[in-house]
Amino acid sequence: MDKSNINVVEDKYTPKKQKNLVLSGMIENLVSESMYELIVDCNTFMMMASDKNMEHKKLYKNNACKNRFCPICAWRKAGKDALKLSIMMKHLKSEQDKQLIFATFTTPNVKADELNDEIRHLNQSFQRLMQRKQVRETIQGYARKIEVTYNQERDDYNPHIHALFVVDKGYFNNPKKYMPRDRWLELWKSCTKDERITQVHVQKVREDNNSRAYEVAKYSAKDEDYLISEEVFKVFYKALKGKRLIVFSGLFKEASQKYEDGELDHLKEESTIDYVYLLMYQWGNGKYAEIEKRLLDDEEKEEVNGGKIEDMEVE
Ligand SMILES: [Zn+2]
Repeated sequence: MDKSNINVVEDKYTPKKQKNLVLSGMIENLVSESMYELIVDCNTFMMMASDKNMEHKKLYKNNACKNRFCPICAWRKAGKDALKLSIMMKHLKSEQDKQLIFATFTTPNVKADELNDEIRHLNQSFQRLMQRKQVRETIQGYARKIEVTYNQERDDYNPHIHALFVVDKGYFNNPKKYMPRDRWLELWKSCTKDERITQVHVQKVREDNNSRAYEVAKYSAKDEDYLISEEVFKVFYKALKGKRLIVFSGLFKEASQKYEDGELDHLKEESTIDYVYLLMYQWGNGKYAEIEKRLLDDEEKEEVNGGKIEDMEVE
């Protein structure tokens, strides 16, 4: 993607740091004092590497809180997770000769006090679905992600699961294996034991469609949802805290291990940007100030340049 028209510090980091401060006000009474301090302090200092024309900048060093609700840290993690998923998808398709299906499973919206139980119900229903004979014989692995959205008008919550399924290449042309959308819907209704459900979203992942990787990798909750009010934040916090959000199984689990072991590095793209400057920023008075600009020294240059691209652009 062409990054030349955006100023990554002003357009990306500044609004996310502003939201991080909204978060810190809401989370203060829910976390330890040291965690609170890490969150308030998150990304108050950052070093960027830049090319000669200041067109491409990438984060070199910063102080990060790593809290899953932090708008800065969640964004950075989503970028890394999205790249990982897209590389695993490439590996499964081109090196294991598989096809992928993207699916979304949801249940009717619930009020705040029912959200925890509903997430448990959703997870159990998904497990039941995966154990159905027809599904077990067809799906060779999955990556799935829990996501919760908030509807402000109705003041209710919708937990749902995005999943990528691995199937044989011939799946779509094999009448014995192929499961049309109506069959998925029928099974989902039976596994949730909820007759009110009228929809299941299922589609084939087209060649090199990274938007599906993004859908599974992105945040489990949008900050514009959970930062609406302290009350809403508390609901999200209790529902998502400590839960495993992305889960890999079968061939996706194997691919994840290969990715972590560096065995899929050959599928990553090589960075071609020549970074020459080091820019230092400090946060204060609601914005980032550039406090130093100098040439990278030889050691830094070697560390920053070359190598593989390790993340993907996400919103
Ligand atoms: Zn953070």
